[in-house]
Amino acid sequence: MELVVEVKDLSIYYFTLSGVVKAVERVSFNIQRGEWLTFVGESGSGKSTVAYGIINLVPSPGKIVGGQALFEGKDLVKLPKEKLKELRGKEISMVFQDPMTSLDPLRKVGDQIVEVMIEHGIDEKEAWKKAKELLKSVNIPEDRLYYYPHQLSGGQRQRIIISTAMAFRPKLLIADEPTTALDVIVQDSIMDLLNEMKQEGTSIFFITHDISLAVERSDRMGIMYAGKLVEIGKVDQLIENPLHPYTSALFASMPDLWVDKEISAIPGFPPDLRTPPPGCRFHPRCSVFRERKDLKGICDKEEPKMVEVEKEHFVACHLYG
Ligand code: ATP
Ligand code: SF4
Repeated sequence: MELVVEVKDLSIYYFTLSGVVKAVERVSFNIQRGEWLTFVGESGSGKSTVAYGIINLVPSPGKIVGGQALFEGKDLVKLPKEKLKELRGKEISMVFQDPMTSLDPLRKVGDQIVEVMIEHGIDEKEAWKKAKELLKSVNIPEDRLYYYPHQLSGGQRQRIIISTAMAFRPKLLIADEPTTALDVIVQDSIMDLLNEMKQEGTSIFFITHDISLAVERSDRMGIMYAGKLVEIGKVDQLIENPLHPYTSALFASMPDLWVDKEISAIPGFPPDLRTPPPGCRFHPRCSVFRERKDLKGICDKEEPKMVEVEKEHFVACHLYG
């Protein structure tokens, strides 16, 4: 097993004028070479913040306040800025929900792709040739190289960004909801591109709200709730045997996943992360806690530790370990 990413006890807070948002609290996980790991969870659970944390790119007023994010053994939390920048361009690629965030709206798409290639040591003539091939490989006419980003569709922009990333065979690709704004057919073609990268050995850290997409494409899945990673394991393990009451509730609330089962919404709302509940952050919404009197004074007081219940299947809940 060759680990590309090892995140250990990572904590990230946003220091806002109205208080400290504990967005990510002591999160640990790893990603192997050529593995696809997906994080799911409700909006605001800290998925994107984890993604930014892995590459030490947390936006202000956020700050990594504890833990490590190792990439091939190097702690990116401690790496000098210059080295980090180099790594992000070459060995780690990022794709976000809005491809416009990765493109300069005032410059033609071709100029931007060619610039990246030149930075990677390819001469200009060869770079234009490669840029044309690249567009062809994702079924986009090559004259689009002379278009500005806003003249392309969202799907075309996203495919261009992913195929540019692919051209350099990064060791790690971080994709934060890259298909959310796109129709199902374009979404599928983008997921196929990511899968191609995985087949070539790239490790993928993927974030989505769409659990059926995660189930279809990933090797392992992590469940985030209110800044905590509450369960992580192989996709089959989570689907066949979800351990954490939040995982079960989340799956039960997804119509796409459980076509023959009754759909039920999770009661209540995620907590304000400036003042998260003590003990297990899920306890105010947990049906097991509500029903079992013996858990009073435990779930609402003590933070559950992550335990391995079966091989590679971990959960943080007082019902286990
Ligand atoms: P979504 O699925 O909606 O993108 P998420 O699970 O990715 O959500 P994050 O965006 O990581 O969640 O947010 C985690 C927490 O951090 C939330 O409470 C959010 O309000 C807070 N947060 C995120 N960015 C900032 C910021 N720039 N300033 C202050 N708080 C922030
Ligand atoms: Fe529910 Fe307690 Fe488990 Fe939290 S630790 S999910 S409150 S049973």
